[in-house]
Amino acid sequence: MEVKSVGIVGAGQMGNGIAHVFALAGYDVLLNDISQESLTAALELIEKNLDRQVQREKISAKDRDQALARISTTMKLSDLGQTDLVIEAATERETVKAAIFEDLVPHLKPNTILTSNTSSISITRLASRTDRPEKFMGFHFMNPVPIMQLVELIRGIATDEETYKVCLGVVERLGKTAASAEDFPAFIVNRILMPMINEAVYTLYEGVGNVSSIDSAMKLGTNHPMGPLELADFIGLDTCLAIMNVLHDGLADTKYRPCPLLTKYVEAGWLGRKSERGFYDYRSGVPVPTR
Ligand code: NAD
Repeated sequence: MEVKSVGIVGAGQMGNGIAHVFALAGYDVLLNDISQESLTAALELIEKNLDRQVQREKISAKDRDQALARISTTMKLSDLGQTDLVIEAATERETVKAAIFEDLVPHLKPNTILTSNTSSISITRLASRTDRPEKFMGFHFMNPVPIMQLVELIRGIATDEETYKVCLGVVERLGKTAASAEDFPAFIVNRILMPMINEAVYTLYEGVGNVSSIDSAMKLGTNHPMGPLELADFIGLDTCLAIMNVLHDGLADTKYRPCPLLTKYVEAGWLGRKSERGFYDYRSGVPVPTR
């Protein structure tokens, strides 16, 4: 089976990056969101990011124009039914994702492959809400999608070999590298990364360090390009908390309990860069630590 068209559900920070890389690789892209504002913002951001790639001479002006011409948007989820591959990249909440797949199924052509960009939720469980668990996979991009090389491919218990091979071919055509992970909570990258971020928040909560000292310690002491709190703001604190809850519930081990300070930031609506305030305050243009 050859994939020519891709439907993307959710035009947030991941959805717009996914649309960007697929359009640049020559796929027709149909981007869906429940918010017209998100769709408009995504198109603007894709154009800005493609422009930057032209300025840096990574792509030509013609590549940019052709990529932009390949992207369409829709607020009607059912429009995605005729695409060859659907990538769901909506909010990290199982009820939201399950409802999307249930609403989409009646409109799908028989061989459409369904995937989710979830950072942590069970692929097997999401697949069971559809009519095609054998054609369902985890397709997990890293943020920012146009820059990061890795895609984690996660097979659910029922995923067939053909679906896996088709997705692997798509990753290669995007110029990225796949790592295969088994379907256990948070897969590989976030199983390791999120407990580290959560521990950084505990370190802050217990007063072992402040935001600046924790981030500098990890940047300079372990050669990480970003500190864990800066990275948490970049990912989105709501997404970090959701992933910790999936690890805690799914593995039933208290070592994964989310730090109460992380919960407090999320309850305050301080979600990181996307709300202009998290462990840093971005409203003045220069990040200022909030603790
Ligand atoms: P985001 O909050 O930036 O965007 C989510 C988008 O989904 C919003 O535009 C929202 O309007 C839309 N949405 C919500 N319900 C919808 C529905 N029913 N139908 C269509 N659109 C809907 O979130 P994000 O950071 O882009 O994360 C999206 C997914 O990608 C999550 O599953 C997350 O775990 C995963 N992910 C995130 C990162 C990261 O670093 N942020 C990295 C890898 C994977």
